[in-house]
Parts: sequence; C-alpha cells; structure tokens
Amino acid sequence: MKLSKRLDLIEPSMTLAVTAKAAELKAAGIDVVSFGAGEPDFDTPVHIKEAAKRALDAGATKYTNVAGTPELRKAVAQWFAKDHGIEVTPKQVMVNVGAKHSIFNALHAVLDEGDEVILPAPYWVSYSEIVKMAGGVPVPVVSTAADRFVVKAENIAKAITPKTKMILINSPSNPTGQIYPESALRAIADLVVKHDLWLLTDDIYRYLCYGDAKFVQPATFGPEVRKRTIIVDGVSKAYAMTGWRIGFTCAPEDVIEAMSTIQGQSTTNAAAVSQAAALAAITGPQDEVETMRLAFDKRRLLMVRLLNDIPGVKCLAPDGAFYAFPDVSSFNGRKTPSGVVIKDDLVLCDYLINEGKIAVVPGSAFYAPGFVRLSYATSEANIEKGLARMKDALSKLI
Ligand code: PLP
Repeated sequence: MKLSKRLDLIEPSMTLAVTAKAAELKAAGIDVVSFGAGEPDFDTPVHIKEAAKRALDAGATKYTNVAGTPELRKAVAQWFAKDHGIEVTPKQVMVNVGAKHSIFNALHAVLDEGDEVILPAPYWVSYSEIVKMAGGVPVPVVSTAADRFVVKAENIAKAITPKTKMILINSPSNPTGQIYPESALRAIADLVVKHDLWLLTDDIYRYLCYGDAKFVQPATFGPEVRKRTIIVDGVSKAYAMTGWRIGFTCAPEDVIEAMSTIQGQSTTNAAAVSQAAALAAITGPQDEVETMRLAFDKRRLLMVRLLNDIPGVKCLAPDGAFYAFPDVSSFNGRKTPSGVVIKDDLVLCDYLINEGKIAVVPGSAFYAPGFVRLSYATSEANIEKGLARMKDALSKLI
C-alpha cells in the first residue's frame, strides 16, 4: 500500500526525535540528562486543575462551539485587549487545539499554492513543515548571533517577491530565546504594510521575558498593521499546560471565520474540559506564572554561565522562552576518542547523547547549523549535572 506523496515534503520533528531517543535510553536504564524538552517541567497550577475537575462534574463533556465556548472567547478577547492595549471582540478570537494547531489553521486559511512565507531563521522546526503542508513555500532569512538573532528588515526586504504572502515572527524565539526589539518590529511592520502582506506573530513565549527585555505586539502599531496581523498565543508554556492542548488566535473576523470553517471540518472544537481549564488559567490568579518565570530566569543564568565555561562554546544570554542556543561550530573537524570526525552539529549531538549521555537538539533542525539548543525547563541539579557531562565529553574531542 502506498502512502500520500504529501509525506515526501514533510520532515518529522527533530526535537520530538531527540526527546524520544532520550526517553528510550532512560527506559533502558541509562542515565541520560535531557535538555531536549520544549515544555515546562512544572505541573499545571492546582487551581486550574481544580477548575477542570469542577467543569467535568458540571457537564464539560460535550462538543462546544467550533471556535470555543462563548465564555472562553470573551475572556480571551479581554485577555488580548488588556495585555496589548488594543480593542478585541470575541468574534476576532478563536480557540484551537494548541498554538501549533492555531498556526496550522491560520496558514491553511490564508495561503494558496506556491505562496511564499518569510521565516526569520533560526526558526521553530514546525513552521517550514506547516507552510509546506498548506501548499506554501518557506523562505528562510538568516540572522546571526552577532545580531542577537534579530533578522534585519533590509534582509527581509530583499527576500520579498510578488509571491510573498506572509512574514512569520516568533518573539521570544524558539530556539534562540531572543526578543525582537520594538525598532526591529516596526521596520518589519512597515514592510508588511508596504507590500500588503500578512504578519503572523507566534507569541506563545511572551510571558517568559527576563531582565529588561520587553515583549512588543506589532498590532499595537496602528490599524494598517493590525488588520494584517494574525496573533497566535496560548496557555501551553506560561501556564505549564502543554498536555491540555489549547491555543488561541486573534485576527480579523474573516480570518477567524475561515479558520473556523477549516477547524469545523477537522478537529471541531478543542476539548471542552481543556477550555474550562484555560478559562481558569487566564482569568484566575497569576502568581504561579510569575513563580515559574522566576525559576526559569535563575536556571537561564546558571545554564548560560556553565555553557560559557566550556572551552569552545559561546552562548548569548537569551532574553526569553526557556532555551539556550550556543555556538558549537568550533568543534567541527575534531575527532571523538573512537575516531569519528565531528562533521557538523548533527554528529556532535549523536556523540553527546551516545557518549556524553546528554540530549541536546542540533541547530540544523532550526536552520542554524553550528549551534545546539538546550532547554532549561529542567531542574538546576539537572543543569549542573548535564553541563558537567557536556564539558567532559567536549574536552575529549581532539
Ligand atoms: N510555537 C512555538 C515557537 C513553540 O515552541 C511551540 C512548542 O514547542 C508551539 C508554538 C506549540 O505550542 P502548543 O503546545 O500550544 O501547540
């Protein structure tokens, strides 16, 4: 039996593969420290779980409206309005099955075959694959560590063609942790208006900003930008709710209607009980979000210090999310004790997991060879143990 040709286009997620390999080794009794996970190690706050239990008893066991329960849509509209200082109506928002699904629906709602989507690189693994699934063509535009991984608007401008339909921004970024400053966003927003493009902003990490870095939502720049902006957000990362599968989209009404049509013929609504939990998350006490953010901040500083302590490793301090993205290109060309040449970050990551017993994700997965991504959504003890292993394993490369 033959499978669909569509699969030839799509790469499986390398981050999920690394996490799965680490889990497999752990199941075989091998002590692996995993920095692969893209999810908080904290449990969902108790008050959210309690709200979900109460909702189940009150009958949150049925289909809901495709775009979400009226209570949650209203609360999400108010949440966006309050956080960004813009007016948002419930008809301009919808609830999806995770932020990944919000992106999937949004791209299917606006892309035609052959439309180009500009992806500032390094970028999250799923963007390019979802663009291709929606018939589009991913167009990476690279940035460098010297630019703090903020892609220059002039480089985006050079990549714009008559086929360009969208620019997709992710700030704070997975994998780099960097936050786009307002000036950079304004320059990108100008291009969006000038060339009449869509701007999709994936804001899933916006609650996780550290130090002086500030998240800025481009839709606040004025009506011309606002009417072209599709905001993707959710509860997965800030509220430690990855398994509940709830994402939010805020966009012009016609986009929300189109996305609802697509969702109505695929997943229907997000799980009723998860919607009740998300309602409790965004309307209830926010102190645990801050407690988790402070814990991530401490781990961030520890991880960056320990990484920069390793000869040959250079790491910028990330401003947000929970990833460090060090440059490990200085190890290219060296040899492992068993004689394997480290030809790139993929071989290096294989060596680190097999010999060093630490799992990190190759930068190549994010269109950034020569780098690796480490998640600090793990305990300080694990960070210390794993980075001691990394230092030791890297010191054996000759
Ligand atoms: N966007 C980015 C940048 C992510 O890193 C992730 C998860 O890793 C998602 C979206 C997906 O979020 P969700 O779990 O809500 O689908």
